Amino acid sequence: MTDCIFCKIIQGEIPSYKVYEDEKVLAFLDISQVTKGHTLVVPKKHVENIFEYDEALAADVFSKIPAISRAIRAHHPAVKGMNILNNNGSLAYQSVFHSHVHLIPRYEDESIDGFGLKWETHNEHYQPEDYQTIVETIKEKMEG
Ligand code: AMP
Ligand code: ZN
Repeated sequence: MTDCIFCKIIQGEIPSYKVYEDEKVLAFLDISQVTKGHTLVVPKKHVENIFEYDEALAADVFSKIPAISRAIRAHHPAVKGMNILNNNGSLAYQSVFHSHVHLIPRYEDESIDGFGLKWETHNEHYQPEDYQTIVETIKEKMEG
């Protein structure tokens, strides 16, 4: 896609810091490092988000994530964890509409890890029957 910034990175038209590359996948440092080593993993094929993946493309992309994650962990002794994040749609905070997976290493050293991720849960709104309805509805939608 001509006006896609990640297609331009894949085609070498704009520079990037490449972490990993093969025929189907490219991983490069996010220009805005949430933590040191924050990496994006993208399919070379332009797809907007997860809803456009088929199984083969998912295998191409997601099968590479463990090895890339281990490499990021190994790159600094203070890396003790990893957040893996994939935003799909502007409502879900996607801002670049070429699918990408964020690998965000987490450091035991707070001077490196400035993320401070906090999760807010809303369990007070959910009774057991609500969980049951949710799980059944999702299972009904599973393909295959
Ligand atoms: P998202 O909000 O999930 O769509 O994330 C898009 C990410 O792309 C952001 O974290 C940006 O910092 C990153 N980004 C945008 N332009 C570039 C670029 N030229 N090189 C590397 N990362 C980029
Ligand atoms: Zn693209």
